[in-house]
Amino acid sequence: MRQLQLAKRTAGMGASAIREILKVVSQPGMISLAGGIPSPESFPLDLIEMLSRRVLDKYGASALQYDPTEGFGPLREALVDHLYAGGMTASSQEILVTSGSQGVLDALGMVLISKGDFVAVESPTYLGALQAFAPYGPRYVSLASDDAGLIPESLEAALHSHPIQFIYIVPTFQNPSGRTLSLARRKAVARLVQKYDVLLVEDDPYSALRYTGTALPAIKTMAPEHVVYVSTLSKVFAPGLRVGFCLAPALLRKWLVIVKQGIDLHTSTYCQALAAEYITGGHLRNHLPRIISLYKPRLAAMLSALERYFPAGFHWSRPEGGMFVWVQGPQGMDMDAAYQRAIEQKVAFVPGRHFFAADSQGLETMRLNFTMIDATDLEHAIKTLGRVMDIN
Ligand code: PMP
Repeated sequence: MRQLQLAKRTAGMGASAIREILKVVSQPGMISLAGGIPSPESFPLDLIEMLSRRVLDKYGASALQYDPTEGFGPLREALVDHLYAGGMTASSQEILVTSGSQGVLDALGMVLISKGDFVAVESPTYLGALQAFAPYGPRYVSLASDDAGLIPESLEAALHSHPIQFIYIVPTFQNPSGRTLSLARRKAVARLVQKYDVLLVEDDPYSALRYTGTALPAIKTMAPEHVVYVSTLSKVFAPGLRVGFCLAPALLRKWLVIVKQGIDLHTSTYCQALAAEYITGGHLRNHLPRIISLYKPRLAAMLSALERYFPAGFHWSRPEGGMFVWVQGPQGMDMDAAYQRAIEQKVAFVPGRHFFAADSQGLETMRLNFTMIDATDLEHAIKTLGRVMDIN
């Protein structure tokens, strides 16, 4: 075939700049702070054989059969307890299982976005959400954020000035910034979505990865009728199994099920059965502290190395969990040039501008991941980056 006729909407979909960066990162000898993925050491590899055997003993061929779009019954039941442990009350009927939380984001885009609709997002925001929504042609309204997360006044101004179709935020240990929305602001956001009768998508993949401090309630608990709560087992079990889920208001859930039918019929029955056994057998509860004890010293090592090695004029987030630290350099610095110098020194990160819906924002920022390498390599990487940044 000489010519491929693409759909008009395909033109709006660029290859992720981060995928390009990740290609560079796989060069030999590179220390990468660029990834956004869990450490393979965090996977409960030692449990998988036993869980697989249990799945086959308990469910037999039905674990390999087609299954309802809403999700595998025993997993939906198990997720009720999982959510309850995280401070949320839901019935299994309210839970929709999806192929990763990315699967929810795509379905939400398909159900909710007509070309040209306004979608409000944080700045910076999760790049994967921008990619999931892109085919449907939204226009983004960027909401201002600071160290305590999204600024409610900025949200109210956006709601006042634009007919916002929905708001998308990651309130806890955000990707890319590591920031967490304070309790007072969660309450303010809940009040605003109720006042303006607008839908909020609360994406929460990271709240279980808390290393210090106390847990904050989900916004879903404060405005249940206005919030779709989206989460995943990717960071607390294994991302390759692709098990995510959401709790959506009933009317929206109905439509999400209809579009999911067309997208993939249902999420892998076998993977859902593994996840069900992982939760009901108490394995998630037992394994989570192991993940936390792996990441906690890595975050501490990164923060202390930033303190020691980064030049004056740089500021960074001090998250209590998650996978990322966000660094803000001095106004006017060229982070892309710094990235090139860092690559020459065999250290990679992601320049922060890639995480903004609008162009020319975050030019002096960077995202640093701390889950993939140990404390010694982290210290070395941050020391190298400190030297690289000092040239500006
Ligand atoms: N939302 C956010 C904020 C994320 O960081 C990620 C993972 N990078 C996802 C959603 C997607 O996760 P998954 O599809 O594996 O559940």
